[in-house]
Amino acid sequence: MLDDLRELYQEVILDHGKNPRNYGKPEEVSHHADGHNPLCGDRITVYLDVDDSGVVRNAAFDGRGCAISQASASLMTEIVPGKNLEQVERLFRSFHEMCTSDADVEADDSLVDEMDRLQVLSGVRQYPIRVKCATLAWHTMNAALAGDHDATTE
Ligand code: ZN
Repeated sequence: MLDDLRELYQEVILDHGKNPRNYGKPEEVSHHADGHNPLCGDRITVYLDVDDSGVVRNAAFDGRGCAISQASASLMTEIVPGKNLEQVERLFRSFHEMCTSDADVEADDSLVDEMDRLQVLSGVRQYPIRVKCATLAWHTMNAALAGDHDATTE
């Protein structure tokens, strides 16, 4: 059972890594930032379109990197549209915790489905060097929302 799950998770990661969703710069962009993970060499740009009420209308990315960084960015851009900035912040914090801690992450009820989808990346916590790959897109999105155009993880 565990092995089956592991295989499935890898398939999702490989699928998103090979065929990233929302890849490329969209026409409407309100926030953007470049992210760089020097440990692995991943480089991505995250594009967001946030409306006046603080709801993410669209998210996209481009750049190059390992399968984990691409899959994470791809999943993120599928998950955040429709969320308000407070929900995005909570998702980021829960996801970060999921990638770095063995404890079960308590997602609040409104974000359970999203956290379920992100669970595919939780395996990185066994490989600390990969945590930066999985969280790069999220750090970059946070920087974009903060008005910072350059996010380099250390
Ligand atoms: Zn990487």
